[in-house]
Amino acid sequence: MPRFKSVKGMQDILPEEEALWSRVTGAAVSIARRFGFAKIDTPVLEATALFARGVGEDTDIVSKEMYSFLDRGRDGEQGESLTLRPEFTAGVMRAYIENGLASRPQPQKLYSLGPIFRRERPQKLRYRQFNQFNAEIIGSADPVADLEILLLAYMLHSELGFKNLNFQINSTGDPECKPRYIEALKAYLAPHAEKLAPTDRDRLQRNPLRVLDSKERETLPYLADAPHMLDYLNEGCRAHFSELLGYLDALGIPYTVNHRLVRGLDYYTKTVFELWGEGLGAQAALCGGGRYDGLIELLGGPPTPGVGFAAGIERIVHVIREQGVSVPALPQPRLFVAYQGDAAKQAAVALASDLRLRGIGARIAFDGRSLKAQFRDADRYGCAYVAVIGPDELAAGSVTLRDLTRSAQQTMTREAFGAWAIQTLSAQDATTVA
Ligand code: AMP
Repeated sequence: MPRFKSVKGMQDILPEEEALWSRVTGAAVSIARRFGFAKIDTPVLEATALFARGVGEDTDIVSKEMYSFLDRGRDGEQGESLTLRPEFTAGVMRAYIENGLASRPQPQKLYSLGPIFRRERPQKLRYRQFNQFNAEIIGSADPVADLEILLLAYMLHSELGFKNLNFQINSTGDPECKPRYIEALKAYLAPHAEKLAPTDRDRLQRNPLRVLDSKERETLPYLADAPHMLDYLNEGCRAHFSELLGYLDALGIPYTVNHRLVRGLDYYTKTVFELWGEGLGAQAALCGGGRYDGLIELLGGPPTPGVGFAAGIERIVHVIREQGVSVPALPQPRLFVAYQGDAAKQAAVALASDLRLRGIGARIAFDGRSLKAQFRDADRYGCAYVAVIGPDELAAGSVTLRDLTRSAQQTMTREAFGAWAIQTLSAQDATTVA
C-alpha cells in the first residue's frame, strides 16, 4: 500500500494545538463582537472569474497561485471553472451583492474565519492551505470605518501579547488621482528601467505600483527617490487620509507613513496598511488590509465603499507559542467511569451517558482492561475522580467514588452519586481547568 501524506504545503492541526487555536480565534471573535461585527460564512469554492475580476488578473495570487479546476457540467459537458478561495474579500462581496445586504442598514460589519488556499512556494510559515480571520466594513466611506478596521487588527494583536506594534500606512488614492500618480511613477522609473530587476521591469509595464513594494536588490536604490502617492492625492483622498491619521494620533496608536506600501491587490483605494510588530522576525507584517471603494461595483453591485483586513491564524499561533504564552487548557472531563465485568460495563455505560445528558463530562474505560489499568488511564487523562462499578456495586445499586487527589474513597447510592456529580463536576466542567 502507498503511504499517504498530506498535500505539499498543507498541514494537520493536531489536538494539542486546540487550546492555542481557540485562544486566538476566541480572541478574534470576541473583539470583533465588541465592535459590532457579525459572522458571514461563504463557500470555500467560488467561480474562478470572481477572483480574476475582483482580485485582478495581474496579481501573483490570480496569475500563479490559485487552485482552480473545471467542474463537471450536465450530461458530461464541461462545467465552469471553480477556485478554492485565495482570499476572503471577493467572496464576501459576492455574498453581499447576491443576498441583498445593501438593502440592510449600512454599514454591514462582517467577519469570517476559515481556510484560504494559495499555491505559493512552501516555506516556514508559508503554507498552501492556511487560515485567516477576515473583517470587512461595507457601505461606509467614513474614515472612522478605516479606523475601526485598524483598531480591530491592533486590539487582536495587543490582547494576544504582541509587542512593539506599529502600523505602516499609506493612501493609494482613487480612480481620479491614482492614474496621475501611476503616470508620474512610470515617468520617474522609465529612465532606470534597464537597471531594475527583471520582474520589476515586467511590473513596470503591467502594474507599475507593484514596483514600489519590490524587495529586489537591483530595484531598491531607485525607489528611495520615487514620487510619493500622498503628493498626488486629490482633495477628497487627502482629507480622508488626514482624518484617519488624526484619529490614530488622538488614540495614541503608533503608525509610520510608508510611501512604498501599496499592497499587492488591484482593488485597493485610499487607505492601505500593514500592522508590523515583533514575533515573525525583527519587524514584520503581521496582517494587512485597506479600502476598496470600487470593488462591489466592479463585481456587478451598486457603487459601495468598503474597507477590511485579514490576519493569518497560523502565524499568530506560531508567535504565541514561541513566546511561551501560557494558554488555559480546555475543559476536560474530570470524572472517569471504571468497571469490572461485563454486567458492570453496561451499568457504567448507562451512568456515563446519564451524566453527559445532564451536561457533565465523563470518560469511560474501553476494551475491558483491568481495574488497575483503568485507574492508570484516569490518571493519564488528568481525571480527578473515578467512579467504579464492580460486582458489589452492581448488586447494591451503588457507586464507589474515588478522589485521586486525596486518595480517599466512598461508596454511595446512585442518587447520592448523581447529586454529588451535579454539585462538584458541573461547576468544574463549566470553567476552564488549568
Ligand atoms: P494577505 O491576504 O496576503 O494580505 O495575507 C493576510 C495575512 O494572511 C498575512 O499577514 C499572513 O499572516 C497570512 N498569510 C498570507 N499568506 C500566507 C501563507 N501562504 N501561509 C500562512 N499565512 C499566510
